[in-house]
Amino acid sequence: MTSPLPMAIAMDWGGTWTRASVIDRNGEVQWSSRVANPKNAGKDGLLENADGLLNEAITACGDSPIAGIGVAVAGPVDADTGTLYDPPNLPELDGVSLKERWEPMTGHTVWVGNDANLAALGEYHFGAGLAARLEGDGPSTLVYMTISTGIGGGVVDRGRMFLGAKGVAAEIGHMCMDMSATAPKCQCGSSGCLEALASGTAIARIARSAVSGIGYQDSLLAVGERESITSESVFQAAAQDDRLALSILEDVVQALGTGLTNVLHLYNPDLVVLGGGVTVGLGQLQFLPRIEAIMRDRAMSQRHKEFVLVASSLGDGVGMAGAAAIVWEAVG
Ligand SMILES: [Zn+2]
Repeated sequence: MTSPLPMAIAMDWGGTWTRASVIDRNGEVQWSSRVANPKNAGKDGLLENADGLLNEAITACGDSPIAGIGVAVAGPVDADTGTLYDPPNLPELDGVSLKERWEPMTGHTVWVGNDANLAALGEYHFGAGLAARLEGDGPSTLVYMTISTGIGGGVVDRGRMFLGAKGVAAEIGHMCMDMSATAPKCQCGSSGCLEALASGTAIARIARSAVSGIGYQDSLLAVGERESITSESVFQAAAQDDRLALSILEDVVQALGTGLTNVLHLYNPDLVVLGGGVTVGLGQLQFLPRIEAIMRDRAMSQRHKEFVLVASSLGDGVGMAGAAAIVWEAVG
């Protein structure tokens, strides 16, 4: 009789849902569940809710030895202590160390990381990085960028996450793209950031303001309530050749191509992976080759141009894949 294979427990704590999975060494998900975060439950209510899900995941491991617990959360994380700092979607958890809470509770080692940094690690081990290795051309330096409600990023260099001194490196959504006085305000408190020009939130904001402009009354976006316009409605209108939607997305493509050129110059990646809902929308409209063309055109040297750009194949599971990868990497 063979002994059961070891498993990693991965958790992804988002603003609305907390997800947990049991993942084997090959990145295969063996069990998965999620619970909604209780509203107005405060810090203790949120933590107890997640405790319950974690205990379910431990039970789901059955006889398999547990290699450790990896947790992905949005916002800055101290890599050594696992303490969360001002998590934007879960402000109640500011100053909480999930490592200190869960190690005594479970008897297993806990690693906590920022979701975008872990997504890069997930892509490196189980996503685009693995696909490249299987073709005999594994990446040395992988940059992951998620373009969704906001824009986040992570860098993995020779298998290791690049975290920075305080664990907040690779905030590529907040590189400044527009220094002018009219630059749009960003969620981070600054203005003119890539996130303020090219995120899903930015696309919706730009469309809402443009639709009342002169010459766009015939746009598909002008039908219905202005405030109901989302980035999805812009993608849908663009798919029907709507002139306004296409012009908005053309600016988004320019901003992303330019921002990603800065990324090439800063990190010299040989694999760039784009994820998030906006990437899906841009991919369906065949805009990704345009972004890549801008990068190749603007890159300063031939060496910077030696990269491959792909869309993430891990989708929503990318943070979870990274949370498992950090466990497998640590246990060897
Ligand atoms: Zn910003």
